[in-house]
Amino acid sequence: MALFSKKRAPSRTQRVALLTVIFTGVIFLIAALVITAVMQMRDKADVIDDARATQAATAAIRSFQARLGSTVRDNAIWDDAYAHIGSPDAASWAFENWGKTTEDYPLYDVAIVLKPDRSALSAYKKGEPFEPASFFGNSLGQLADKAAKSGKKPVTAFVPTKTGIYLVAAGAIQPFNDSPPGDTVSTLLFAKLLTNDVIAQLETTFDIDGLKLVSAPRPGELSMALVGETGRAVGYLQWPSRMPGSVTYEGVRTYLALAGIFLVAFFLAIIATAVATIRSLQRDTAAARLKAHHDSLTGLLNRAGLFELVEEATAISDHGVALALVDLDGFKEVNDAWGHAIGDRLIGLVGERLKETIPHAQAVSRLGGDEFAFLCKAETIGDTAASLISALQEPFRIGGRTIEVGASIGTAPLGTDVSDGYELLRRADMALYEAKESGRGRVVNFSTILDERRHERSEMEEKLRQAIERKEVRPVFQPLVDAKTGSLRGVEALARWTPETGPVSPEVFIGVAEKAGLIDELGRHILEISVETASSWNGIGLSVNVSPVQLRNPDFAALVEEVLQTRAFDPKRLTLEITEGVLMSNPEQAKRTLARLKAIGVKFALDDFGCGYASIGALREFGFDRMKIDRSLVIALDDHRGAGILNATLSLARALDIPVTAEGVETQAQANALAESGCDQLQGYLVGRPMGGEQVEETFFKSAA
Ligand code: C2E
Ligand code: CA
Ligand code: CA
Repeated sequence: MALFSKKRAPSRTQRVALLTVIFTGVIFLIAALVITAVMQMRDKADVIDDARATQAATAAIRSFQARLGSTVRDNAIWDDAYAHIGSPDAASWAFENWGKTTEDYPLYDVAIVLKPDRSALSAYKKGEPFEPASFFGNSLGQLADKAAKSGKKPVTAFVPTKTGIYLVAAGAIQPFNDSPPGDTVSTLLFAKLLTNDVIAQLETTFDIDGLKLVSAPRPGELSMALVGETGRAVGYLQWPSRMPGSVTYEGVRTYLALAGIFLVAFFLAIIATAVATIRSLQRDTAAARLKAHHDSLTGLLNRAGLFELVEEATAISDHGVALALVDLDGFKEVNDAWGHAIGDRLIGLVGERLKETIPHAQAVSRLGGDEFAFLCKAETIGDTAASLISALQEPFRIGGRTIEVGASIGTAPLGTDVSDGYELLRRADMALYEAKESGRGRVVNFSTILDERRHERSEMEEKLRQAIERKEVRPVFQPLVDAKTGSLRGVEALARWTPETGPVSPEVFIGVAEKAGLIDELGRHILEISVETASSWNGIGLSVNVSPVQLRNPDFAALVEEVLQTRAFDPKRLTLEITEGVLMSNPEQAKRTLARLKAIGVKFALDDFGCGYASIGALREFGFDRMKIDRSLVIALDDHRGAGILNATLSLARALDIPVTAEGVETQAQANALAESGCDQLQGYLVGRPMGGEQVEETFFKSAA
């Protein structure tokens, strides 16, 4: 069964969704990376510029210190100064050279000379004498000490005062060439007040915007400590960060924002497209699914559609449910007789009738060909199936024709022992097979006996296969005698098979051979042995039964010819007995075979006449040489109405000028009646049971001889 496969590869919908997610993910990742990079550039640029500004500020202070320091050094390391500071006119010399200068000199505005005991020799601020100890505190003495120790190097420090912060530089006064004279020196100190002008000058020279002098730095701005003589900050230079990165960033932010908007728009477009694509794919899938699950001819579910529902029912163990398989009887004949167009219309009408008749049934489906199925409540499935069978027996009208079919139904309940949908289908299928086997137009419910029977059948099949190979199936012969004189006219070969378990009726094993595909071989074997055995029985005919299945084989005629030829058997002595079924199911092939064999003299008898739908037309059309009336008609002779049917049949045969053999004649009364009615040949236990070849010779040839 080509059923729906449950495992599916990722659908196209899933692939589109996945691609969209990956695509938008990648876009967002790239966007995030770009944004991070821009932010980092902004921050880095800010940091770098802050570092540059801090460096510039440091350089500004250093150069400020260096300038004042070198001014002090130039003045302190001076032979003249050294000579005069030790002399009595020291104070006036100091005033003349330094004190006076403080009035308006850009390099310093305070000049102090401290004596070796650190008392002031001379102290001028802006040209005016002043008291340095009270103005600067004791920082001056300490600076002088340091200067004395550092030799020719001046020392500097920032010193806070009432009027502001001064940069003070100190140098020991000493001769230019000699080494400084230790602690006992006088010290020269210059100081420069950090005025707004000074700061503004530093600002322009070192390119630091917004430079200010403050006592404590404000957070968020850049600053630099002005270190006092003790090493502690006495004030701060402070300036705002220029933040060039942020400024640049502000400049490009609009573009970034635009890019962001485009990105979002792009993203939305992708999502919208993906959603639209997925929707259309889903619609396609749904349509394909509908198509895959429905039968186009009837609009019912198809096998895949049914199987899905059956699987669902088995998955939830819906034990109240049963599955029914419906197979039309005689549909093939309709197709053969009227063509496929009519066949298709019939299938369509059957589908409609199914829906009308069993509206409560579920999953009404067509499995293909003339097979239908439905699910319904297990407790009512018998009645439902029966009502369906009678509904389908009502004739169908198609284009002026009245067409009759029937149906066989196999049902199977979803019992606890049904593991899956396949098993349920298998069971219903087996029940259907049984329904067809046991004579069509029936409902058969699955039972485990069917399984056993199937098992037995396959066992028998195997045994039969071996028996045929070992030539253990052999013919016996039943005499055919003249109705008037009782003399032997021929024999009918009948197959016999007796395995260890006891004889099996040919009605059983012939059917098994037909279904198992063994009938061609079996038939050939019976024909060969019969021909061989009967070849010496001169003057009498040989009848051999031919199964419809054999006759369907296009090589059959050639095979018969070959058997007859190799054994030099006169074809005119051979009669092949066939039932009419084969003529109905494949009339063209049958006609060809009959014509070919009749041409070489082989005769044909219509077997079992009177028990099927035998048509007189067939007798004429196929040119039968003889008909054999069935044992049931002969038995019917025993009551009067039966005699009527028999007589009607025989007068028909007479009209067609076809000789008649009566089968199954068991009593003399029957024999007399049949002979009187015009049967020219009799066969039956009365005249002889089927017997082995030797017995035929003993009974008919030796005694005659
Ligand atoms: P059939 O062709 O109608 O054969 C006649 C059947 O009636 C034989 O049954 C025969 O034994 C039986 N019979 C004959 N006279 C009497 C009688 O007076 N009373 C009763 N009750 N029965 C009688 P058998 O041998 O069991 O064969 C059954 C059927 O199997 C045959 O029916 C034939 O259709 C088929 N068959 C037998 N041998 C072969 C064969 O080699 N090939 C084919 N294809 N079919 C065969
Ligand atoms: Ca026969
Ligand atoms: Ca028969």
